[in-house]
Amino acid sequence: MTEEKNKECIFCKIIKKEIAAEILYEDDDMMVIKDIRPKARIHLLVMPKKHIRNFNEIGEEDREMLGKMMYKIKEIAKDKGIDESGYKIVINTNKEGGQIIYHLHIHILGGEPLMGVV
Ligand code: AMP
Ligand code: ZN
Repeated sequence: MTEEKNKECIFCKIIKKEIAAEILYEDDDMMVIKDIRPKARIHLLVMPKKHIRNFNEIGEEDREMLGKMMYKIKEIAKDKGIDESGYKIVINTNKEGGQIIYHLHIHILGGEPLMGVV
């Protein structure tokens, strides 16, 4: 596991288990938690264990890890029983993208109709 962490980052603290979260899955590369303020019946966050500020900051060396995260999302959607009903995956990036926490994360939203911005 990469030791690249940011001391001030809330998601790094969750990854280091310094702050509690409902963890659904973790391995050497990533963690999947429940969003603390769910915006849908199912609202999960998938984050790399490596501190990456946001989508703009991903590097060539992160491509494999990102592929693993996307594949895990597919598996989680099936596990949660929303693969057929449908779901959204969202990456908020910077201010106008609505990013609040500056540690890359992918939202998985589902379990109810989600007709909205996109
Ligand atoms: P974003 O706007 O993409 O940066 O989203 C940040 C998300 O993190 C929001 O949906 C928050 O509800 C969620 N969040 C903030 N703090 C925590 C926490 N301690 N545990 C789980 N989710 C959190
Ligand atoms: Zn972080």
